[in-house]
Amino acid sequence: MDSITSEPRPSCDLCGSSGELAQGSVSDPDGNLQGTWSFKRCTDPACGVYWLDPAPRPEEMWKAYATYHTHTRRIENRFAKAMLSLAHRFIRLAQWPLWVSNGLKQEADYLRFMTLAHEPIGTLLDVGCGGGRFLNRMQKRGWVVEGSDFDEQATQKVTARYGIKTHVGDLSQCALPANRFDVITMSQTIEHLYTPEATLRECLRILKPGGLLVMTTPNVNSIAAAEFGRHWRGWEAPRHLHLFSVESLRRLTQRAGFEVTEAQSYTAGCSGVYRVSHTLQHPAATSWFSQLGLLMWSYRKELHEHRMQKTRPNTGQNVLIRARKPSH
Ligand SMILES: [Zn+2]
Repeated sequence: MDSITSEPRPSCDLCGSSGELAQGSVSDPDGNLQGTWSFKRCTDPACGVYWLDPAPRPEEMWKAYATYHTHTRRIENRFAKAMLSLAHRFIRLAQWPLWVSNGLKQEADYLRFMTLAHEPIGTLLDVGCGGGRFLNRMQKRGWVVEGSDFDEQATQKVTARYGIKTHVGDLSQCALPANRFDVITMSQTIEHLYTPEATLRECLRILKPGGLLVMTTPNVNSIAAAEFGRHWRGWEAPRHLHLFSVESLRRLTQRAGFEVTEAQSYTAGCSGVYRVSHTLQHPAATSWFSQLGLLMWSYRKELHEHRMQKTRPNTGQNVLIRARKPSH
């Protein structure tokens, strides 16, 4: 285990208000870093964001990503993995009719293209592009794509593998020209940023007038966050520096100058979060049989969470925001 130097962040860096403890004793879910972290909740109802306190110093944050899943893939027991993957496919197939009839498949399709499947094709920037799979998918559909990421190793791979233009560093450091893009996407990115509002303002500057911003991020008001407490996978300490609900991200996006056209939560794909959260809570259950049980249980949870949205809206696993830069 590595150690990382952290410093206190007593007040909300988005609005300056004080915070109350929302969740303590959160450890690094990947088990790479020593120590535990806490999340504060902003007490100003007009803001309401969650933030990590204390947080790693920016110059040491690389340690938190040293064995991050974008780079490495752990292969332990190949045979067991292959069998589980086979079982996984079988379970997905068996669930298929339920997914379609409950609308989960439609939701997954909507998210697979970051809601852009029926948008007019144009120029697209993916902020926090990671391994570049989404950009490659969009490029194949005719979009003119570029990516940015603060991880140079990742951006080099994206360029080498897919021939996609990439930019390294924080979005404001990339110094992209104003009014450049039709669409900007940020999939599970904003929660990793030290300065989310400044990044949103930079998105506004480099989008064309009327351009579209699409964001997804873990939902602090999700059913799973309440159920698992400190074991919820979405905390992802210390890599997640700010966390949002549908309402708090809608407000921040509006404050940055956007017109929000869609703000909601979604459930599709959340079975993985249930599995990891459950494993963090019960680390001993690693047998073949328990893994199989966990798979089936996690798909039931996904379906349950999806159905609950009728009576408890905005409590799905992830937040989705679509917002436009004003046309004039
Ligand atoms: Zn605040």
